Amino acid sequence: MTAVLQASEPALADLPSQVLHEVFGYPAFRGAQREIVEHVVAGGDALVLMPTGGGKSLCYQVPAIVRQRAGRGVTVVVSPLIALMHDQVGALDEIGVKAAFLNSTLDGDEARRVERDLLAGRLTLLYAAPERILTPRFLAMMESLAERGQLGLFAIDEAHCVSQWGHDFREEYLGLSALHERFPGVPRLALTATADDHTRADIIERLQLQAARLFVASFDRPNIRYTIVEKDEPRKQLLRFIRDEHEGDAGIVYCQTRKRVDETAAWLAAEGMTALPYHAGLDAALRRQHQDRFLREEGVVMVATIAFGMGIDKPDVRFVAHLDLPKNIESYYQETGRGGRDGLPADAWMSYGLADVVNQRRMIDESEAEEEFKRLQRSKLDALLALAEAHDCRRVRLLAYFGQASTPCGNCDNCLHPPATWDATEAARKALSCIYRFRQSPHGPRSFGAGHLIDVLRGKATDKVAQYHHEQLSTWGIGADVSESQWRLVLRQLIALGHLQAEGEYNTLALTESAREVLRGAVPVQLRVPAETKARGKTARVRGGGAAGKPPPLPLDEAAGARFNALKAWRAEVAREHNLPAYVVFHDATLAEMARECPDTLDALAGVSGVGATKLERYGAEILRVLGAPA
Ligand code: ADP
Ligand code: ZN
Repeated sequence: MTAVLQASEPALADLPSQVLHEVFGYPAFRGAQREIVEHVVAGGDALVLMPTGGGKSLCYQVPAIVRQRAGRGVTVVVSPLIALMHDQVGALDEIGVKAAFLNSTLDGDEARRVERDLLAGRLTLLYAAPERILTPRFLAMMESLAERGQLGLFAIDEAHCVSQWGHDFREEYLGLSALHERFPGVPRLALTATADDHTRADIIERLQLQAARLFVASFDRPNIRYTIVEKDEPRKQLLRFIRDEHEGDAGIVYCQTRKRVDETAAWLAAEGMTALPYHAGLDAALRRQHQDRFLREEGVVMVATIAFGMGIDKPDVRFVAHLDLPKNIESYYQETGRGGRDGLPADAWMSYGLADVVNQRRMIDESEAEEEFKRLQRSKLDALLALAEAHDCRRVRLLAYFGQASTPCGNCDNCLHPPATWDATEAARKALSCIYRFRQSPHGPRSFGAGHLIDVLRGKATDKVAQYHHEQLSTWGIGADVSESQWRLVLRQLIALGHLQAEGEYNTLALTESAREVLRGAVPVQLRVPAETKARGKTARVRGGGAAGKPPPLPLDEAAGARFNALKAWRAEVAREHNLPAYVVFHDATLAEMARECPDTLDALAGVSGVGATKLERYGAEILRVLGAPA
């Protein structure tokens, strides 16, 4: 089938670049986009793994336009995110692409108009939720289109929703295998940012994509700066971070519980920020309202549980902060990936402490899941902890997790301010060997928690020590030179590095396989300097780095700055008229380039990235006018 298509339409292959320039106004495809687009345009099935913010939408929007132009009909986009369809369709309308959505927010008349447009071949893209697509009525409409060769492509967005392994599982996604069974000739493109093997295998099996080509894009998001700080007074640390680096910027703050979301949002608001809460406990109308304000207003900070964010494609989110540890690296990467989609600098900031480790472990232990699932969750948590404890490049570790090799990035906290480390090999050996002695001891239980271990290491005579005769151990008192809180840090890091494991109800400590190597002295243990001895110095350094080291998101001189502001004011007007978020009209990055280059002809304006033919026609004259007479 592929061959027939290519032979009969040799020009089809050139169309993607043309569409990219003309319709989207972008100079070039990013990374794997070109290959993906060409494969799908030629009628192939594909599964695309690309990080959040990597540019997945273009991978089906360009083929949709190309296939429609070639007379192959409409692209049906399956998405679970009803609340966002309106803006997605609005964005396509702005660039002159005929699109519509079908969901429960439309009344009967509106829905019938969309159906008529669909059947008459007037649409290039149609967005719908899976439950809508699988209704007999919709299936019948697709049958009718398919019979006439007018069903061009299925794009299945957020494809990981089909997998029970992730937290985004949607029952209705399971029914999507019907698409392949009923319309075997229509190519399918499944897209997700979730890259782990389990989810990937699930997607392939459940959506019957065994014959699809797999595209794994680079997972790097170079404009995002990763910072993980030791939890001290988390809210104050957060406030300082926002004030110092992101005053007036839009951002997301993730917390683990609803209560913490409410408290943190109220607290930030009391500090004078526009901060709104978002979690599943708020009623739907209020959630919707907060989401709208986040998308439409400038400088809103959304404080949220992980219930918020999937599909949010606001390009100018300048920071994503985690007050609590996420579940695993996939979640962390997906959540932080919501920052800086426009390619401008953005921050991923997280505070992390011992309680996070204990809480996350407990949540896994106490969940009702099967043992195999728990084991997987634990190993994923371990990988995240290793990232949090790392004193080398965070990005190298993140990318390695997704199977990608790289070199130190120069744009994470550890690269920018290499942390002071100390040689903890001896301390680590002492702790591990003490745990080993517990096991050998003829008295009492064979494993203990951190508290008792530290008592024994420091030679503290407690009832428990007396009860089990631990003062007789050869490790009794060998760590008296290290303070109790330092020991806790050593243990936390040993746990995080995987040399120690906390087990059972009481978090008793057990040696892992790799501990033996440490015990033998074969593995040097290099640890971060404990927080208590560096807290002041570090705060000062981060401040200093913030002022000197961070490039401003939009480097513009004064005149260009004035033009930029004039353009933003104009954009706000247009957005209000069209009932769309401002970024749908133009991204900040596009306005900044206009302000910097200050084109004085339509031709020159067309050269700005993000200005396609339709926007040039609609807004070109206006923009030139605004540029010629900045306030
Ligand atoms: P994802 O769905 O993978 O999270 P998006 O499709 O929302 O990412 O794309 C992220 C941003 O990058 C969007 O604002 C989009 O306009 C922009 N973008 C994508 N591809 C390109 C490209 N080839 N050139 C310029 N900008 C692009
Ligand atoms: Zn780095």
